[in-house]
Amino acid sequence: MTAYAVDERGIYRGRPLAVARPASTSEVAAVVRACRAHGVAIVPQGGNTGYCGGATPDDGGRQLVLSLERLDRVLDVDPVAATLTVQAGVTLSAAQQAAAARDMLFPLAMGSQDSCQIGGNLSTNAGGLAVLRYGNARDLALGLEVVLPDGRVLDELRGLRKDNTGYDLKQLFIGAEGTLGVITAATLKLYPRVTAGVTAFTAVSDPAAACSLLTRLRGRIGDNVTSFEYLTAAALALVTRAFPDLHVPVAKDSEHFVLLECSATGEEGRQGLEAALARLHEEGLLGDAVIAQDERQRRALWALRERVPAAERHLGGSVKHDISVSQGDLATFLERAADAITARWPRARLSVYGHFGDGNVHFNVLAPADADAVDFRARHAAAISDCVHAAASALGGSFSAEHGVGQLKRDLLARYTDPVALDLMRTLKRALDPDGLMNPGKVL
Ligand SMILES: Cc1cc2nc3c(=O)[nH]c(=O)nc-3n(C[C@H](O)[C@H](O)[C@H](O)COP(=O)(O)OP(=O)(O)OC[C@H]3O[C@@H](n4cnc5c(N)ncnc54)[C@H](O)[C@@H]3O)c2cc1C
Repeated sequence: MTAYAVDERGIYRGRPLAVARPASTSEVAAVVRACRAHGVAIVPQGGNTGYCGGATPDDGGRQLVLSLERLDRVLDVDPVAATLTVQAGVTLSAAQQAAAARDMLFPLAMGSQDSCQIGGNLSTNAGGLAVLRYGNARDLALGLEVVLPDGRVLDELRGLRKDNTGYDLKQLFIGAEGTLGVITAATLKLYPRVTAGVTAFTAVSDPAAACSLLTRLRGRIGDNVTSFEYLTAAALALVTRAFPDLHVPVAKDSEHFVLLECSATGEEGRQGLEAALARLHEEGLLGDAVIAQDERQRRALWALRERVPAAERHLGGSVKHDISVSQGDLATFLERAADAITARWPRARLSVYGHFGDGNVHFNVLAPADADAVDFRARHAAAISDCVHAAASALGGSFSAEHGVGQLKRDLLARYTDPVALDLMRTLKRALDPDGLMNPGKVL
């Protein structure tokens, strides 16, 4: 059972009573009913790639891990309705491939896509690399099938675009991290396949300039801006140190960079996108920039962004944060958080990057270069996180933009959430799961 007992980052180690691997919705329901009859808690587990310990049981030896991995069938791809229906254990990359095989696009994408599952994506309301254009997992869900904590099956597996018949119940289970029921299948939105794309990497003068660039770019090509990722020179330096085969292709003396991707489905294609970028360059909004000429170059640019977490791990790990603030407050947040950290830990290193287009930034803090990283985190992580979360909260921001709450951020939810909202969450939890058997100790 070892693989099911430890989380992705090896922070949480549980001791499961057992691991159940049902292969159908009715088997999931049977497991849930049996657990209820015997008062056994259930921890749903998808691809086990979550960052908050949500899929790891406690160490009491009394919680059952319910793995969805055998519910791995693509049930339907409908290019006319532009919908995809899959069982919850289908991996994200398998869902993408099923759409592509019918010349359609399922746009959710992230570094963990070969392992994470649609059920896990929905349960964490995952974000990823194309939220700017297509939204997060919640925005892509049309219908769900859910096994409720009492073993009944809620069948809302419909692909209707419009349906105003009372409460939108599926929303309760999206982002609930397995605390209200087990998602067993989903109907998802598809989009036309992208026919042209431009990926560019550019230096910018500061975070405010990055925000202006995004606004102007969207003014020119609207929703065709798919990704807009910000990186500091310090984050890139970690990547090129940990992965010497990677190179920063533009002005090496700049402190701030943007990786952006635009895509089009119509006639205008790549030329139209390149013309828009050329005009922004003439206006001085794009600094020293490169445009990928082929897929190999595109992958090399994306590697600079995608390998930041691995580079941090390689160099001893970091105190991680997953902040969101409103777009207009991003530059202020970065300045205030950096000031707060350097005032108390002047030699700590900052690794700042993220999905800038979504107002989401990973503001990570590494130990001074000559300090022991594990010891530094053990002594300072809590105080560092307090500073960063206070800076976000003062701007009305969130302490968890896309990774969820799990067990890692449960105390933060209690601290930073409006008491009325928290009370409503507890009321819903009691109503759906009166015995408290669905993923106890997570979220609430
Ligand atoms: C390299 C890497 C890159 C990542 N990039 C991103 C990113 O860009 N954006 C992002 O948002 N996240 C990212 N993540 C985090 C993670 O991949 C996502 O949170 C993902 O959605 C988790 O899916 P999973 O199937 O692995 O879920 P798990 O980790 O197995 O579970 C996550 C939570 O959902 C619950 N759950 C799982 N399946 C079900 C189900 N069927 N029914 C009910 N509850 C369920 C679990 O109990 C747990 O609380 C990344 C992770 C890695 C390792």
